[in-house]
Amino acid sequence: MKSRLPAPEAPYIAEPLAHADQPVHDERVPIYLHELGFDELRARLAADGLRPAHAATLWNALQYRAQTDLLAREDFPPPLRRWLERRLGVQCLLDMPEVSSHTPSSDGLTDKFLLRLQDGQEIETVVMGYEGRHTACVSTQAGCAMGCVFCATGQMGFARHLRPGEIVAQVLHARRVLQGAGRRLRNLVLMGMGEPLHNYDNVMKALQILSDTRGCNIGPSKMSISTVGVVPGILRLAEEDRPYNLAVSLHGSTEEERAALIPANQRWPLHELVQSCRTYGEKTGRKIFFAWTLIAGVNDSPAHARRVAALLRGLRAHVNLIPLNETAGYAGRECAESSASVFHRIIQDAGIPCTIRQKRGIDVAAGCGQLKAARRKRERAAPQAA
Ligand code: SAH
Ligand code: SF4
Repeated sequence: MKSRLPAPEAPYIAEPLAHADQPVHDERVPIYLHELGFDELRARLAADGLRPAHAATLWNALQYRAQTDLLAREDFPPPLRRWLERRLGVQCLLDMPEVSSHTPSSDGLTDKFLLRLQDGQEIETVVMGYEGRHTACVSTQAGCAMGCVFCATGQMGFARHLRPGEIVAQVLHARRVLQGAGRRLRNLVLMGMGEPLHNYDNVMKALQILSDTRGCNIGPSKMSISTVGVVPGILRLAEEDRPYNLAVSLHGSTEEERAALIPANQRWPLHELVQSCRTYGEKTGRKIFFAWTLIAGVNDSPAHARRVAALLRGLRAHVNLIPLNETAGYAGRECAESSASVFHRIIQDAGIPCTIRQKRGIDVAAGCGQLKAARRKRERAAPQAA
């Protein structure tokens, strides 16, 4: 079978941002304002003779108020207004995805958005509000190269990495949605489309901007990065001095079993993955969340549960059990509730905290990539509708 993964020598990080090493006045390089940190924005404006106070005003509009219609801000100081009139849409661009579709769940607690990026790529962003805590679930790539067989995004293949601004803009979108209802966004999970650690640098840059207390102010400990198990990324993350939460998608308890569900296991085998988690745990002292998607007759038996408990022995771990969201491209079925509770008990009895994640918002095609897949299916069923 032809692998969709890049060749082993390919770097597993995104290209550096085009503007990162450019002189700030290089007018040939467009700049996306949402992916400038506060100091970078200040330097960009200073290069055009604007004062730091102007940068603070613009940053506040962009990253705190999540405003998009900057030219309508008549209260902006005249030099800033003139600068925006001259630069915006020319050398300075905004990341403003269009809402392709918005689907609220029937329980009113989940809002799922399909957002269209400037090049037409569509990605999913979800805003969830349970128990008074509001969480944005964002995408880090358009599609995904990892090809997990049960995942609607994996079934689509990889289109491209998202730039930091495109990741930030999803959170700002969530912020606007909540602001309208007088609510505050406190948590962020990178569990939408794509593999965050395959787009490491862009993801880190976005998280840094989003944690700025003058902007979105989401603390790193309120951010969760979910990975399929990109070992070099986990080891890099262990060196970051910011307390992001790490979630690792396990799903298989032996090499063969896992490789059948997750082709990336051939590149980063289970034993190396668990070893990298041990290194991460030792370096950071932090707990790791392990996701286990329960698939009937595939990985939901008591023997599987016992092997998971053995694999994670000695790690500070928490296991999240997720009933499979069935997808069109995979024949696997959701496991029975009884198997989930037996699995749950075995993990708990082994001294590892474990929760069964409720399938909320299932009526809005809650699984990763499923909204986009559903849209594609409709488009194929009704081609060229006028
Ligand atoms: N690429 C990252 C993050 C995005 S996927 C990762 O794989 O961890 C987020 C989570 O959704 C992962 O745990 C993934 O295994 C799970 N997932 C994907 N498709 C699913 C499906 N159809 N049913 C249940 N869980 C699914
Ligand atoms: Fe990619 Fe995660 Fe889906 Fe696997 S589960 S294909 S890594 S998005």
